[in-house]
Amino acid sequence: MDAMERLTALCANRGFVYPSSEIYGGINGFWDYGPLGVEMRNNVKAAWWQRMVRERDDVVGLDTSIIANPETWVASGHVDSFHDPMVDCRLCKKRFRADQIDTADRCTAAKDHQHDLTEPRQFNLMMRTSIGATEDSSSLAYLRGETCQSIFLDFRRVMQSARKRPPFGIAQIGKAFRNEINPRNFIFRSREFEQMELEFFCLESEAMDWYEHFREVRFQWQVDMGLDREKLRWHEHGPEERAHYARVAHDIEFEFPFGWNEFEGIHYRGDHDLSAHTAHSGKDMAYTDPDTKERFVPHVVETSVGVDRTMLALLCNALVEDEIAGEKRTVMRLAPAIAPIKSAVLPLSKKLAEPAGRIARDLSRRFNVDLDTAGSIGRRYRRQDEIGTPYCITYDFESEEDQKVTVRDRDTTAQERISTDQLAGYLSERLLGY
Ligand code: ATP
Repeated sequence: MDAMERLTALCANRGFVYPSSEIYGGINGFWDYGPLGVEMRNNVKAAWWQRMVRERDDVVGLDTSIIANPETWVASGHVDSFHDPMVDCRLCKKRFRADQIDTADRCTAAKDHQHDLTEPRQFNLMMRTSIGATEDSSSLAYLRGETCQSIFLDFRRVMQSARKRPPFGIAQIGKAFRNEINPRNFIFRSREFEQMELEFFCLESEAMDWYEHFREVRFQWQVDMGLDREKLRWHEHGPEERAHYARVAHDIEFEFPFGWNEFEGIHYRGDHDLSAHTAHSGKDMAYTDPDTKERFVPHVVETSVGVDRTMLALLCNALVEDEIAGEKRTVMRLAPAIAPIKSAVLPLSKKLAEPAGRIARDLSRRFNVDLDTAGSIGRRYRRQDEIGTPYCITYDFESEEDQKVTVRDRDTTAQERISTDQLAGYLSERLLGY
């Protein structure tokens, strides 16, 4: 089994993530997050929101609808320009993104295994739907291809209601949809995914300073999430790579088991979006500085990262096999802030389930805690190691006498005896923050 197969199997078996509508054979490019996956996702999103919104006084949050007036996507350029080049193999009938054909992929219908490819055609990635009872051109709408467009549409209202003025930013976390030609690499490229985006509005003359600032902020966040520095690198887009809206763009890439790939983009969008929506809607999006009376269309620096790609990077980074006292184990070294379960309470015997349960209930007011009563203690440790639980708490017969429990550290497997009334404080110190 290679690294991705091992990870995919673990994710499905342990309830992190698995194919959507599996009993019908799944549907390509769509995934379901199970009980552990949803906890981890929520942790990733909370950590992003904390750093990008709550800890800053120049950013506010937003949550907009997935479907907007379709004119939005005409103005933004997505209807005309949000394309990927598509090619078909005339022999095996498979379809590929022309710029991403995998050399390992071989034609199953040709003797020499070489595909016989058509010329590339442009394929629009916007996912269409129709609204209301009739299905004609007037009912056409799109599921958003990126979360940021509604931030531009709501720019003036947010600025006024939140009493902000440039430089300031608007952040949003939400679903986005792209009709990807070839979804692949597990949750790396799917057709429904979630983005965490910040659009930061500023003066043109200050845009590149903000751009550099947010490059630093975002790289540091990835490191703080626990990603190994040596598996992260910057990639600057050349002119031919840049999206239709971008003037300058850098990706943060991670070394996935299938190679270096983008999972976050920092883009300088200029005044592309606000100007386009002004021109298309007839509503002026310019801003007048009350002090200088200067009127200008703010320029925008964007940071855009996928929740799912971040999850995949974190999972790939964390999943390791090591050896403890001559015994091999699989361990998910997730940062405590990201781990789906923070602590598991393990009664040594079923007879101790009740007092152990009381400890678990008490801790669950602060942390996501699991009470695990089934199997030998060794097996329970392994199970918790595999899903990344940072601390296991064992309640044994002595605990009844001395009101102490054994706390075991996932990474070192070192054990400490802690009195139960100090447990919440002990864990808080080690689990909170990131
Ligand atoms: P790619 O070149 O891989 O298609 P992109 O450059 O089009 O990606 P952006 O438009 O910059 O991506 O989107 C910002 C972020 O959204 C990406 O860095 C990624 O984390 C996430 N993302 C984009 N497309 C997908 C997808 N199909 N599945 C999962 N996440 C995605």
